[in-house]
Amino acid sequence: MCGIFGIYDHAEASNHAYLGLYALQHRGQESAGIVSSDEKQLYHYRQMGLVSEVFSRDILRRLHGRSAIGHVRYSTAGSSDLKNAQPFLVNYAKGMVSIAHNGNLTNAFLIRSELESRGSIFQSNMDTEVIVHLIARSKEKTFLDRTVHALRQVEGAYSLLFLTEKEMVAARDPMGFRPLILGSLKDSPVVASETCAFDLIGAKFIREIEPGEILLVNDAGIKSYKPFPHKQLRQCIFEFIYFARPDSFIFNHNVYEIRKSLGAQLAREAPAEADMVIPIPDSGFPSTLGYASESKLPFEIGMIRNHYIGRTFIEPEQRIRHFGVKIKLNPVKELLKGKRIVTVDDSIVRATTSRKINRMIRNAGVKEVHVRISSPPITGPCFFGIDTPKKSELIASSHNLREIQKFIHATSLNYLSIGGLKKCVRGEEENFCYACFTGDYPYPFLK
Ligand code: AMP
Repeated sequence: MCGIFGIYDHAEASNHAYLGLYALQHRGQESAGIVSSDEKQLYHYRQMGLVSEVFSRDILRRLHGRSAIGHVRYSTAGSSDLKNAQPFLVNYAKGMVSIAHNGNLTNAFLIRSELESRGSIFQSNMDTEVIVHLIARSKEKTFLDRTVHALRQVEGAYSLLFLTEKEMVAARDPMGFRPLILGSLKDSPVVASETCAFDLIGAKFIREIEPGEILLVNDAGIKSYKPFPHKQLRQCIFEFIYFARPDSFIFNHNVYEIRKSLGAQLAREAPAEADMVIPIPDSGFPSTLGYASESKLPFEIGMIRNHYIGRTFIEPEQRIRHFGVKIKLNPVKELLKGKRIVTVDDSIVRATTSRKINRMIRNAGVKEVHVRISSPPITGPCFFGIDTPKKSELIASSHNLREIQKFIHATSLNYLSIGGLKKCVRGEEENFCYACFTGDYPYPFLK
C-alpha cells in the first residue's frame, strides 16, 4: 500500500512530485517523501504524516534540481517508523541512489539474513532496503545493469522508481502485481502508480509500464528493457475492488467502470427485497450504483461522511479505528426510519467497521439491513503489498457466512462470488491475483 511518482528533466520537478503524491495520497497516509537531483547530488526530505503536512514551500524549494521521485507509504513490511519512510537514499561506492517501492518482496528476509551474515548493515527494517544492498554489491558496470542484477534475485511484488544523480529508472515485476504508468508533461517523462496523478499536473497518459519491463530515463531519452523470463501475470484484483482511485486507469481499465460492474454482478447474484440501496461512503459508491441500477432499487445516500478526517482504517491503533467509525459517518435518520435497506461496501476485513455501521443504522430505526459486499470473503493475508492483516484477524478466515452476519448485526449478508468477480474481468481472468480470497499464492512467503 504505497504510491510512487517520478519526473525527469523538468524545471519544477519537486513541486510536481509534491502534487503527484497529493493525488496518490489514498495509497498511503503514514509517511511521505521526495528525493530530487540537480545532476550533481541528491536532496532528500521525508517525514511521517500526510503530503500536505509533510511539505512546505520552503522544504520544496530546498529539493533542488530537474528530476525527482516521491513516495507515500502505509506500512506493509517494516514498522510504522520514520526510518522506514521512503524514498530511501544511500551513498555507495558508485555515487548516490534513491529508491521508492510499491509492493512487497516475498524473499527479502532470506536475502537480508544472507547479506547481514556477509557484513551488510541495514538502516531500516524495510524489505526495500535489500534491493539497494544488492545494487551496491553488484559488480556490473552501469546503474541499469546493477539494477537488473539486483532485481533478478528478488521475488514478489515491486513497482519501483530509482533516482541517481543523472538517471531515473522505473521497474515493474514480471507478474505485474502493482500498477505503474508512464506519461509525459510536455517533454518531461513522468511515472506514477495511477493516472489520477497525471490528471492533476496536466500530464499526458502514454502507456502502462509492462510487467517485467525496466525503463531507463536519461539525457538520451527513454529506453525499454525486458531482462526477465516471461511469467504469468498476477495483477492485484484488490486494486480494482478497493485500493485504486475510481478515476484512475490501471491494468488496462477504468477503475470506476470495473467497480460498477462488481456491484451489478452482486445484484444478480444476491438480490434483496428492500426499499432502497445505500453506499457505505466513500469506497462503496461505484459498486452501489451498479447494484442499484441492476436491481432497479432507488439509490439513496443514507449516511453522510465527514470529509475532514483521515481514513480511519489507516490508523495502526485498534483503539483509534474503533472510534473512527463514529466520527466518520452519520446516518440520515429521517430517510432510514422504518425502511428495509441494502447497504453495499467493497470488502469486509476484520468486520469491525460493518458491525459499528450496522449498529448505528439500526439505532436510526431501520427495519432490515441487507449487507452486500462487492468482493469475496477475504480469508488470507496479502504478501504482495496490500495491508490485509494477519490471518487470525480476518473474520472470514475463521467464521462462516451466518456467523459473520450475526456478528455484524445484519438481516442478511452476501459476498460477491469468485466466479462473479472473474466475470467482471472476463477474458483476462488468468491475469489477476486472487490469493487473499482463494489462498492460491503465486509465491510462497519465505521467512
Ligand atoms: P473492517 O472493519 O476491517 O472490516 O474494514 C473494512 C473496510 O475497510 C471496508 O469498508 C474497506 O473499504 C476498507 N478496507 C478494506 N481493505 C483495506 C485495506 N487494506 N486498507 C484500508 N482499508 C481497507
